[in-house]
Amino acid sequence: MITHHDSCRMCGSGHCTMFLDLHDQPQANLNLKPDSWLQHPEIYYPLQVYFCHDCNLVQLLDDVSKEELFSEYQFVSSGVGNTPVHFQEYAKFVTEKFLKPGDFITEVGGNDGVLLGEIKGMKTLNIEPAQNIAPMSRARGVETINDFFTCTLAKDVAKKHGKAKVVMGNNSIPHIGAQADVMKGFKELIADDGVGIIQAHYLGYIFDTLGYGDVYHEHMSYYAIRPLIQFYKQFDLEIFDYEMLPFQGVSIRIFFGHKGRHPVSPKVAELANEELAKGWDKLETYQKLAKDVEKSKNKLVGTLTELKKQGKHIAAYGAAAKGVPILNYAGITNEIIDFCVDGLPQKQGLCMPMSHIPIISPEEARTRPVDYYLLLAWSFRDHIAGKEKEFISRGGKFIMPIGEIEIF
Ligand SMILES: [Zn+2]
Repeated sequence: MITHHDSCRMCGSGHCTMFLDLHDQPQANLNLKPDSWLQHPEIYYPLQVYFCHDCNLVQLLDDVSKEELFSEYQFVSSGVGNTPVHFQEYAKFVTEKFLKPGDFITEVGGNDGVLLGEIKGMKTLNIEPAQNIAPMSRARGVETINDFFTCTLAKDVAKKHGKAKVVMGNNSIPHIGAQADVMKGFKELIADDGVGIIQAHYLGYIFDTLGYGDVYHEHMSYYAIRPLIQFYKQFDLEIFDYEMLPFQGVSIRIFFGHKGRHPVSPKVAELANEELAKGWDKLETYQKLAKDVEKSKNKLVGTLTELKKQGKHIAAYGAAAKGVPILNYAGITNEIIDFCVDGLPQKQGLCMPMSHIPIISPEEARTRPVDYYLLLAWSFRDHIAGKEKEFISRGGKFIMPIGEIEIF
């Protein structure tokens, strides 16, 4: 199921222009059973990125239905790279800065409870739509509602549990199509002196790295601070601070509350001005980005084709969703990449969407010849290079699939 919108999902403007076309692609997180595509042909949806001329939000306008994307979800937060450590630090930070014992904190799309499970002595509630993930969160002892977050649900929660001192969404809010309904929900649920915290990929990271693998159907909005400041104002909410974090590349963590309830850091306006100075309000800036992405893709295809000609064994490292748009935009399949290694047991034995590259365990990968690993989990580059010293010491190399296609 796909719905195409003609207007911006934040400001409602009909003046949106498509600047990056990654062609029709399947859902990035939907790995497949071998040969299942022979019986059930894969479904591809347009993957096109738009710029709103009025509020400047960068977004997709073709929404795959939320039930299709999130009711069964293959991404388990605690299973990825340095994620558990990140969330332990995050839990400590939020507790010390905003909470006192017994306070109520709730998270929208809290996945397997990796963050809330670390918050001790508070009343916690995870609102997680995936039917397969919600039980994992409960198993950590985190009270969990297995449903999609809407304004109606927020009102129900506030009625039952009271308003929350902290309402957060970590790498989940840009995944929600109905942005206005979500913000109304935050408005309902945040206590008078409470705080909303949203963490998301930062648009600047795509510019800095050409990391277009972060563009896939789940990520419906690409956040910069300028469009959000304006958007939140509609709901009498105010961004009062932010932080940049080296998580999943670069993430922005935005702090907001009811208007006038928190002193506003001058950093907020400064970042908005920086974004303006970079031309993020102009279509040409994005058209240039799209050209750079295309060049990077061509370089990747050239590099892999040349190595293959030389008889090198090329495999992929990390069956991460963010590798999928790159492979599929570049037309790289199991004819070039022998297999993809991934440590998560639930992915092993499946094949990557569209490219049909088989996913195998690290144990099995060690029995196969590999000269080059294409680093599909590219935002965990340092973490992975640190883990794979043995492969590197044997002369093995990694290939970055984005930017200048660095080999290291
Ligand atoms: Zn807009």
